[in-house]
Amino acid sequence: MNQSPIGILGGTFDPIHNGHLRLAMELASELRLAQVRLIPNGRPPHRDQPIATPGQRSKWIRVATASEPRLRLDDRELMRKGHSYTIDTLASLRAELPDTPLCLIMGRDVFAHLPSWQAWKQLFDYAHIVLIERPGMSADYAPEATQALEKRRIDDVQALHDSLGGHIYNYAPPPLAISASRIRELLAADESPRYLLPAAILDDIMDAKVYRP
Ligand code: ATP
Repeated sequence: MNQSPIGILGGTFDPIHNGHLRLAMELASELRLAQVRLIPNGRPPHRDQPIATPGQRSKWIRVATASEPRLRLDDRELMRKGHSYTIDTLASLRAELPDTPLCLIMGRDVFAHLPSWQAWKQLFDYAHIVLIERPGMSADYAPEATQALEKRRIDDVQALHDSLGGHIYNYAPPPLAISASRIRELLAADESPRYLLPAAILDDIMDAKVYRP
């Protein structure tokens, strides 16, 4: 008998914002997840390196999730040297949680490029993928990503509980058009991103002048 699934939300979290946090909450409830782990990546292989330090990004996740038991920081990628590959993260989670279905959460913008990831086909040996509609982000899928979607797609949440990995589930959360890039742009232009992210985190960003040019 499997444990209840956990969600894995990886990202740069540069900084964490209400789009991430609401998404995690909606998923916890919609998919009946025991918890959602927010996993900041150390050196993402596919994008610009984050501006905030690993210490700042993980502290903000800890602060933002402190009063919500279903959300928690998992900083294993920051502890590893070199690039953060999702396949390594899933393998280490699987070793710790042998009977727990893992649901790897990703926006469509991220899924579109999945075939460029290290060992991407093996991701399904460890986890399901939960594919998220994201407002304002459209992306053409690589053909292999479309094929994986056709082959693995399921529409019943229970299937995510009944096996440890291998399926793709599509989910359209209530849309929140918030992104970390927009928050960084506002701060760089000396404008306020207040209410797009938790107040305590914005205060900390302002004190440390993190995203000022
Ligand atoms: P940036 O703007 O710097 O690219 P981001 O806001 O997209 O950052 P990430 O840390 O890269 O944040 O995102 C982590 C994951 O959360 C990705 O899978 C992304 O698609 C998803 N995500 C981020 N913001 C939202 C949102 N507002 N709605 C739905 N999914 C989101």
